[in-house]
Amino acid sequence: MFDTVFTNLHAATMRDSADFGIINNAAIGVTDGKITYIGPDAGIATQDNVIDLDGAWVTPALIDCHTHLVYAGSRADEFERRLQGESYADIAASGGGILSTVRATRAASDDALYEQMTARFTHLFREGVFGIEIKSGYGLDLASEGKMLRAATRLRDELGVPVQRTFLGAHAVPPEFNGNADAYVDYICDIMLPALAAENLIDAVDAFCEKIAFSAQQVEKIFTAAQKLSLPVKLHAEQLSDCGGTETAARFCALSSDHLEYTNETAIKAMAEAQMTAVLLPGAFYYLREKQLPPVDLFRRHGVPMAIATDHNPGTSPILSPLAILNMACTLFRLTPVEAIAGMTRNAAKALGWQKRMGTIDTGMDAHLAVWNISHPRDLCYTLGGRPCRAMITGGLYNPFE
Ligand SMILES: [Zn+2]
Repeated sequence: MFDTVFTNLHAATMRDSADFGIINNAAIGVTDGKITYIGPDAGIATQDNVIDLDGAWVTPALIDCHTHLVYAGSRADEFERRLQGESYADIAASGGGILSTVRATRAASDDALYEQMTARFTHLFREGVFGIEIKSGYGLDLASEGKMLRAATRLRDELGVPVQRTFLGAHAVPPEFNGNADAYVDYICDIMLPALAAENLIDAVDAFCEKIAFSAQQVEKIFTAAQKLSLPVKLHAEQLSDCGGTETAARFCALSSDHLEYTNETAIKAMAEAQMTAVLLPGAFYYLREKQLPPVDLFRRHGVPMAIATDHNPGTSPILSPLAILNMACTLFRLTPVEAIAGMTRNAAKALGWQKRMGTIDTGMDAHLAVWNISHPRDLCYTLGGRPCRAMITGGLYNPFE
């Protein structure tokens, strides 16, 4: 009656935000890659293909809803220089920062980019991730942005990983535009976006709205071009200052606004009305040793769902541990464990528009699950290290880690 039944487990279904949606002594039945039973162990008929999980905990697979996973090179040297007192601005002025990653990414072959990205993904998978958003934004020309998006497409098609491919052409102004951001925005809207969309490489469009990047007016232009192609939008906003990005994003009913340390209550009300998700990124906050906390209480008060992501990138968040990020969300941003885990499951799915297929353990959802050696779901936020992920279930297939 089922393709596979997983028994003798405790499920944190994440359907209920009060108590992780816990079902003790549960079973999960899978048919054609979908969950077709979740409930008490005693309620499921015995059958042949049963996998006994020996009292392990099962959560929805974690979803990393904001990453820059495709790139070449390393910025460990800049990390060291910053610790010796050089500022981020000095390093950028001497050819470092995002543009050093752009040079390395432009020079890398398709296969090298794909292999480096896949190696990074394996670390995330080993800690429970199956479902990821991957941004372009280190190519900044048509050929190189396409190369990045094609690498993300290969992860989806060759390994079957749910991937949202996000075009982030508006990440920085490339050197050939000599600081002329308006001319580069025209190039994004008139050349890159239509060509990459025609090749079916884009699932969503993002931009970096900040004094050191693009203005709200420039973002509006890009979002208008995305809207014409029926592509959903999202925004890096209010990370270092408040430039009005989130209010612009809300006018376009964006999927999410991300970072948000410097956002304000008017913008948060607009997010609630536009049913947006707030994506919080404690890894970048940690690496930059920021002081301004995102207004978590205002998101709670206005009912804006909070998602959490690694923001994996070589400059400001070279983190490949989703569990470390869960801990940072609690220790740095004061989220509760249930909020943090919802932030990497149910609300991360919502941030990608995937809430009907992933993010909770429920009948009809894709059978992507993580199996943990823990005694309660809160343990995932509590401990650093220890490799608690025992196995991943992907599309109903059981992949144990030895
Ligand atoms: Zn980012």
